[in-house]
Amino acid sequence: MMKIEKYSFGIGDRFGLQGKAQLAAIILAKKAGVSLVPVWNKSNREHQTIGTKPSQVRVEADNSVSDLGWTESHYVDADHINLDTVESFIDHSDFFTLDVADFIGKKAEDNDIEKFVSQNEKFLGELKIEGIDETFTVQKEDLYKIGENYLYAIKHAASIYEHLVFKKGAENFVTEVSMDEVDTPQTPLEMFFILSALAAENIPAQTIAPKFSGRFNKGVDYVGDVSAFEKEFEQDLLVIQKAIAEFGLPENLKLSVHSGSDKFSIYPIIGTLIKKYDKGIHVKTAGTTWLEEVIGLSMAGGDALEMAKDIYNKAYTRQDELCGPYASVIDIDQKNLPSPEEVNSWDSEKFSNSLRHIPDHPDYNLNFRQLIHVGYKVAAELGDDYMNMLKKHEEVVAAQVTENIYDRHIKRMFHL
Ligand SMILES: [Zn+2]
Repeated sequence: MMKIEKYSFGIGDRFGLQGKAQLAAIILAKKAGVSLVPVWNKSNREHQTIGTKPSQVRVEADNSVSDLGWTESHYVDADHINLDTVESFIDHSDFFTLDVADFIGKKAEDNDIEKFVSQNEKFLGELKIEGIDETFTVQKEDLYKIGENYLYAIKHAASIYEHLVFKKGAENFVTEVSMDEVDTPQTPLEMFFILSALAAENIPAQTIAPKFSGRFNKGVDYVGDVSAFEKEFEQDLLVIQKAIAEFGLPENLKLSVHSGSDKFSIYPIIGTLIKKYDKGIHVKTAGTTWLEEVIGLSMAGGDALEMAKDIYNKAYTRQDELCGPYASVIDIDQKNLPSPEEVNSWDSEKFSNSLRHIPDHPDYNLNFRQLIHVGYKVAAELGDDYMNMLKKHEEVVAAQVTENIYDRHIKRMFHL
């Protein structure tokens, strides 16, 4: 089986030009003593919005790796796919994120639910998980509830997995199961039984992406109770450890944090806990690389700054359309969104400082940042004009991209 390493880092790249700049951050981590492998991830939704194809991500990843002489593993993730969208990724990906979120809450056949309940009856009563002080109490109705909520979704994951085995061979890809894009978090106890069901369906998941409590808005910090997150994350780690032993799941099974990027306040907690228990982690930070492109353009000044302003102005007038698909993962406060007139008067410094995610910088504006974040469609519509501008200012843009991933993400998580 293709086995993913202990620490892996999901780097997405909407426009496909920052592969090397992102890999450079992974190389910096290695020099600092943290061994991470890069995973290029791009979802079907991103491909559709931008008009790219999965084959292009493979080319970008392979070229970046060979250009920078990276000799360790790298992967290409078909992010958030289901049976309807998997096909075009099959030849180009070796990491598949089976997304079951849409199927949670749909009810499986009664006899399947009965089977699930009877398979897990041995856990009824008090369930003790090593390392967790709290004792869980499992009642039969809990098992029914979990089965009714998740079994159908897990069976869907199984059909995607089987399709991939048929097309690619079981040993040629890494499997992730994601259920993060839902409103209700999965509790650690629910995750234990979800893992039981995944094992029963013979899905050798190596990473699992639950929905954690709190808000994981796009490109901005975590919003929620940090200490509650800490407790939940720690319990999830220990639940996974027990599930591996109990159900025979792959030994390297680890949590995947679909961070929406920039969860600065919880990164150090994650880093501390995985170190405490000697566990692996996969982190997906996708979309913010494109914000670094806009920051780079604004810093370059002249035409490039004008283009950055133009992107904001257009995004401002198309808010409903652009924000709609991301409604559950953004929170824009209208009254603190600068008007296009105001932004037009900004210089390079003011623009880049308003956008760059340095929370305590006096110019930082998270509303401005979130709107540009979802405005990548506007840049995609600029087509070659946008791409050529990035190429023209490659150096300044790349420096922003690398610094963002290394300084603000990797360093925080791995306490460098
Ligand atoms: Zn996700």
